[in-house]
Amino acid sequence: MEHDQGSLLDEKALAQAATDPAARVEALRREIEHNSYLYYALDAPVLSDAAFDSLMRELRELEAAHPELIDPSSPTQRVGGYVGEQFAPVRHAQRMYSLDNAMDLDELDAWMQRVVDDFGHFPPMDCELKIDGSSIALTYEDGVLTRAATRGDGTTGEDVTANMRTVKDVPLRLRPEALGAVVDPTRPLELRGEVYLSKASFERLNLAAEANGKAPFANPRNAAAGSLRQKDPTITRGRELSTFMYAIAEDDALRVPGQAELLAWLREAGFHVNPDVALCESAEEVRAFCERALEQRESLPYEIDGVVVKVNAFAQQQALGFTARAPRWAIAFKFPPEEKTTLLRDITVQVGRTGALTPVAELAPVVVAGSTVARATLHNLDEVHRKDVRVGDTVVVRKAGDVIPEVLGPVLSLRPDDAAPWSMPDVCPSCGSPVIREEGEVAFRCISIDCPAQAQERLLHWASRGALDIDGMGEEIVSRLVEVGRLTDVADYYSLDEAELSLLDMGRVNKEGAPIRLGATIAAKLVAAIEASRTRPFARVLFGLGIRHVGKTIAEALAGAFPSIDALAAATEEELAAVEGIGPKIARSVYVFLRVPENVAVIDRLRRAGVTLADEATGEERPQTLAGLTFVLTGSLSGMTRDEAGAALKALGAKVAGSVSKKTSYVVAGEAAGSKYDKAVALGVPVLDEAQLARILETGEPPAPEE
Ligand code: AMP
Repeated sequence: MEHDQGSLLDEKALAQAATDPAARVEALRREIEHNSYLYYALDAPVLSDAAFDSLMRELRELEAAHPELIDPSSPTQRVGGYVGEQFAPVRHAQRMYSLDNAMDLDELDAWMQRVVDDFGHFPPMDCELKIDGSSIALTYEDGVLTRAATRGDGTTGEDVTANMRTVKDVPLRLRPEALGAVVDPTRPLELRGEVYLSKASFERLNLAAEANGKAPFANPRNAAAGSLRQKDPTITRGRELSTFMYAIAEDDALRVPGQAELLAWLREAGFHVNPDVALCESAEEVRAFCERALEQRESLPYEIDGVVVKVNAFAQQQALGFTARAPRWAIAFKFPPEEKTTLLRDITVQVGRTGALTPVAELAPVVVAGSTVARATLHNLDEVHRKDVRVGDTVVVRKAGDVIPEVLGPVLSLRPDDAAPWSMPDVCPSCGSPVIREEGEVAFRCISIDCPAQAQERLLHWASRGALDIDGMGEEIVSRLVEVGRLTDVADYYSLDEAELSLLDMGRVNKEGAPIRLGATIAAKLVAAIEASRTRPFARVLFGLGIRHVGKTIAEALAGAFPSIDALAAATEEELAAVEGIGPKIARSVYVFLRVPENVAVIDRLRRAGVTLADEATGEERPQTLAGLTFVLTGSLSGMTRDEAGAALKALGAKVAGSVSKKTSYVVAGEAAGSKYDKAVALGVPVLDEAQLARILETGEPPAPEE
């Protein structure tokens, strides 16, 4: 095939376009697909970007002139389709499994030994990098992409076809050269892999988030999953997602004998396949691959969190089979959490909404597990002393659970001579009032009622998702409103008006030197969000008030026993303490809070603003069919949030606990279930998937015991 840049735009071609546009359109599509294959699958582009774009332009123009020729699998049709409010559920024809983990080389050896014991010899194993993204299943019918679905709970995922079509390395049609190996081309062919964000795209995305005052993504994996679940495919397109494909749902749907051969076929079919693979003949080779991958980790343009080792031959895979959760023929060798050293520039003190002072490590920014870390909580003074970290130290940093940055300790040999032990300031860094430490408490506190830092934290807490959920009311806007004196307490939210908000000076100037204002669009959204917050249930309001020791669960227990603020305010300390889950300390805190005149005044103003301060009589209650059962929820559910699932279970009389014990009746495991799942298995607690949970909520019946 010729690839000189002008060849497709010469006169002959233009003549063809005029006389037989259908043939020309088809020729252009083939040419574009072929060049995508060279670019993505083989990583060996021949055309320049400009020439490629010119082909696309011609195709687009021809399709515009002949709309009858438009076809959903045309390369011009990568964006289209509307995603409804909810992504439609997709039941996977074959379960999408998770992988068992080997946390170190010894565990990896033990797994390999078990396989060797089974077969009596070392079966060839395919080693691949474990891409840190989100799993995806792509279905092709007659060679054309018809559906893309997330893993979900493994049984049911979400339909993300419109979004995956925007991912440039996903072929909309399989290359005809590869179709020969498909056993029955009329049957849907489901291929699987990982959709991910490169480190560079991730960084760009987070910089943009920061510039727009949004919270950054914790890691590329979350960013990829979030990008995939956008309601608007044009947003997904802008996120620059990529894929690496590596699996097939039914391995007998293709005439290939094993994993290595499958990867070669996937590449032939036009998919992006990771080149870093090895077919290993011995345990030493597998170990060497893992060690090499660990060394390469940093220099790769995308995040990996381990190596996946797979018994290569499909026949041998079938002989080994699956457990309930994962294949027996594969294991994920997980890298240890990445640790970095950096300079501890300072230890600052943050004042929380209850006045607790928290020391925070201010670090020289360093990239750990995919994102930049510049701050990490040091929790309290005892912790600072236990870790013995001092300003000026070089410290070791990692991300707990790959998300929360954590300072492990100092590198003592690098400590400067003048580094002194750190101590808490005597006065609050925000308001200058004296700091106290109560008997038996770890935390130091500022107890001034006028402390602006506390006020700001209380205001943010009120607006937070678990409380009144005022969407968009973030730190920057709240702190501006506090600074200009428009927000002092939570009742002030309900007197903000749209015109005033839109003119709010954000304390920054634009290129021309004019002050940046909040603007009408955001102001309108905020006012709508404030309006919506008025109808949140009483328990959320109670939680939002930020009474010391009253977290979400306690607020729910209190609202259950005293369904209005008046009933609660009328209760004695003893009556409060009689509620299950409420001890004397909490009872005292609630009792006192509701008698502080300033608080009573705020509550009165909230009442006048129409905020829910009493639950409607619930009328008919659902029968408490789950009474006596305790559920633990883990992982993310696709159809609802964990909070919603918990509330629905409670409405049926169940208890919902935060950790797994022998008393747990059921663990509901969503996607990416973690240690709670493992604990459930270890304790023999039955594990339910999301579909089973849905059935329970629908019928109100506990699950039938397994045979
Ligand atoms: P985990 O979620 O930690 O149980 O790991 C299992 C997941 O690893 C799978 O569901 C895949 O999404 C992902 N994964 C990433 N790279 C690979 C690979 N090369 N082979 C198989 N799974 C992979």
